[in-house]
Amino acid sequence: MTGRDVSHTVESVPLARLPSGRTVETLLHRYRGDPSGPTVYLQALQHGGEVNGAAVLRRLHERLRNTTLDGEVLAVPVANPFAFDHRVYMSPTRLDAINSNMNRIWPGDPAGTLMERLVDSLWQRAKDADAIVDLHTGGPYMCSHTRFTSGDSRSKELAEAFGVELLVEDGSPVSNPANGGQGKIREVAAAAGIPAITPELAHSREIVESAVESGVSGIEDVLREMGVLDGPVPDHEPTVGTDKQSVFIEESGLFRSTTVSVGDRLQAGTEIGEVFDPTSFERLQTVRTEREGLLLSLNRGSTVMEGESVGSLISIEGE
Ligand SMILES: [Zn+2]
Repeated sequence: MTGRDVSHTVESVPLARLPSGRTVETLLHRYRGDPSGPTVYLQALQHGGEVNGAAVLRRLHERLRNTTLDGEVLAVPVANPFAFDHRVYMSPTRLDAINSNMNRIWPGDPAGTLMERLVDSLWQRAKDADAIVDLHTGGPYMCSHTRFTSGDSRSKELAEAFGVELLVEDGSPVSNPANGGQGKIREVAAAAGIPAITPELAHSREIVESAVESGVSGIEDVLREMGVLDGPVPDHEPTVGTDKQSVFIEESGLFRSTTVSVGDRLQAGTEIGEVFDPTSFERLQTVRTEREGLLLSLNRGSTVMEGESVGSLISIEGE
């Protein structure tokens, strides 16, 4: 470890030109230490309501500016300004009717739709990195976890270093979503030989101190794992979940969950809630798990439509 005091610069990345002629840009922060070390690319807010990721990068900014780095860190706090400005999960369909979910179209296309061009602009900055962390947050009723791409052992090591208790294996390394992938940055990076992880921190739409702190310490441990920051990586032994399965309901009405909580290990056939008719008060469906597993997410209670998912279970490796 040689390490060098950090020089911090900011690049304005042009993302799109709107009909009015205005250019939409976003900022990329570059923290340069010793140039012989690896590069780590960080981003947040692909989905507009997932605000904790930007708060994580802001706190990390204070720490990185006052340290020494062996390598370089790139950080894009607002990857999707369209979704963020409109305070919605995906980009408004009036701007891009075909590709409104930014995390389904990596690596983008410089000749494609608005969002494909935006993704391409960011991929050009990310594709030469040695590791990628794509910060997301789940709804309030989802267990915090970190996702890595199935079959990619280097991404799994990075996920273990990040240090949350639950990892979820998902997707496959595919360089082009047209070839069967989900078009997530994680999958495209894995296919390009870049280990990449998606931390799903707790809580969308509100800044939660515990989620911000776990994101910052997770990234610092990833930087230690990569050798960019000095120091040992604590030994984490997370639980690994695979094969996520949604729980769908058959009746429309009001859903109300029982006393089960996310993170619970459930047997097959466990009652997790009911759907009732709000006019007659009649119970229309008792919602049960179809198999055993860990409850990853659960709707606590809301209006539901037949065929909709109210939660999800994952199988735990080794159980
Ligand atoms: Zn997200």
